[in-house]
Amino acid sequence: MDILRRIRRTVRVQKYRISSHANEEMSDDEIEARDIESIIFTGKVARRFTRDPRGTRYEVIGDTTDGRRGGVVCRLRPSGVLLIITAMQKKNKKGDRCEFCDGNVEHRLVRARFHFKGQTIYVDNVPAWVCARCQERYFDAAVYKRLEAIALRRGHIRKTVRFPLADYGKVLTGNV
Ligand SMILES: [Zn+2]
Repeated sequence: MDILRRIRRTVRVQKYRISSHANEEMSDDEIEARDIESIIFTGKVARRFTRDPRGTRYEVIGDTTDGRRGGVVCRLRPSGVLLIITAMQKKNKKGDRCEFCDGNVEHRLVRARFHFKGQTIYVDNVPAWVCARCQERYFDAAVYKRLEAIALRRGHIRKTVRFPLADYGKVLTGNV
């Protein structure tokens, strides 16, 4: 059986282990366990590190659950457990550009303003593609649907944010 099939089989039966080193890298790059699985199920073995006396390490590059490129470095232990040594986000091959200004688009967590049926809500920690030049945001399908689901339950939102409201005609005269 080829190595990728063996790696996938351990993931399918949840026989993998994530190191705390990988956990830190994953947190920095917003990669969750389900992304590790997605990368391995969709990916290919991109590199083999064969010089390690403990056995070969493999880097698998594939897609995260939200459509980013991700890499997982792992090793199959003699016990049959797959050890996840590290994982990180990879640059998108195409280098997504902004539709409106052609700026660079980066994946970030943002406070999103979301409109739904004439109402506006703000949602923190939303994964989004953000244009570095004009700040336009793009939401992946699953993220957008989740924002809709949150907006439907807006009656359950306990926290509110307040913004200063100025009057354009009065703002420079002292009292607004
Ligand atoms: Zn832009």
